[in-house]
Amino acid sequence: MTTTRFRSAAVAALLLLSSCAGAPPREAPPAPQPSPVPAPPPVVTPRPGVVVPSPAEAAGTRFIRVLLSGGTQEAVLEGKTIRAWGVDGRLAAEATGRVTLAAVGERIRWGGSGLLGDTLDAAGDPDLRVGNREVVGRIRLLARKGELLAIAVVPLETYVSAVLSREAPPRFHPEALSAMAVAVRTYAVGAAAKPRDPAYDVVGSVEDQVFDGVDGVSAVFREATDRTRGLVVRYRGELARTVYHSTCGGRTEDAGSVWGKDIPYLRSQSCDDCADSPAYRWEYRMSEAEGRRVAKALGVPPGKDLRIAVTARTPTGRAGRVRISSGGVSRELQAAEFRKAAGYAKVRSLKMEVVPAAGGWRFTGEGWGHGVGLCQFGANGMARRGAGFREILARYYPGTEISGETP
Ligand SMILES: [Zn+2]
Repeated sequence: MTTTRFRSAAVAALLLLSSCAGAPPREAPPAPQPSPVPAPPPVVTPRPGVVVPSPAEAAGTRFIRVLLSGGTQEAVLEGKTIRAWGVDGRLAAEATGRVTLAAVGERIRWGGSGLLGDTLDAAGDPDLRVGNREVVGRIRLLARKGELLAIAVVPLETYVSAVLSREAPPRFHPEALSAMAVAVRTYAVGAAAKPRDPAYDVVGSVEDQVFDGVDGVSAVFREATDRTRGLVVRYRGELARTVYHSTCGGRTEDAGSVWGKDIPYLRSQSCDDCADSPAYRWEYRMSEAEGRRVAKALGVPPGKDLRIAVTARTPTGRAGRVRISSGGVSRELQAAEFRKAAGYAKVRSLKMEVVPAAGGWRFTGEGWGHGVGLCQFGANGMARRGAGFREILARYYPGTEISGETP
């Protein structure tokens, strides 16, 4: 089990809970005007490859480096005033309103002006937006082989509340939100201990935890973060892998059944507290056309006799393997692979049955997500019965302890 696989699976299903509220479109601001005027060096002490916050920010504050955009040649920055400094600490460029940055090999083009170095630290006055995300503090821009990376450096607790706002419904009980905040923080601190890349710790999307910027975070999420400030989950002194999901549907899953590796504190637990989740029981009608699309995507040329069947189950009753067959071609695959191809929001969990039905197939199931670790709706049910966040975490991550970030 690789860290990457683990992270992806950990959050993929849960994120479907998130709404898709984006920033309102903005009118195009005036063209950028890079400043030829040298400015005094900003109060940063840059080190190559490391995003450096200002000393005031850095004093006693932990930061998470979040990749906001990558894999593209350009990034758009917006702000009333946008300034960028090179690694020597000197002001390299300035713009008002909006500026497009492009990677040209290992260098950065600032708007319509000439080429700058491969690394810039940008900040907005008063704020800065990258794409539709508002970020606080600075962002680092890196040109790497024609690709421009935009990396936000976010105070840990700000990151936790921002992620929480996308990963949990605001109507959840405060103790359930507090439990989630600890799980989100633990995940982030663990990721930072083993960064994905020398330049950043986490990706701000479903690959890790969704980070859509810091604006519009409701007070309930900030309060849950504040109540648990600095707290993380540990198992025998090590940071735990605090995976979570929306709804287990009655019993959580063993990590070993999903990722092939047993983890002592990620063992199946019975859970009857998520019964009021809208996904506790679900049904999905897959049309013939959709079934053909899925079969084709999974390498089985679909004919009239297309069949989909569960061929193995985990000890908790979840589908382990699925067979797709048609016209003498048969393929058996991991059920998780099938679910991904069918769509996480359609086949909501692997705690499911599939039978042929008129015009296609009928899926019926329980829960939403991979089922490992903390069941969010279960946590909410526990909190409504009077449980505190420590009790909630102890139930879903048995044998772990809650401690401050630094042991
Ligand atoms: Zn549950």
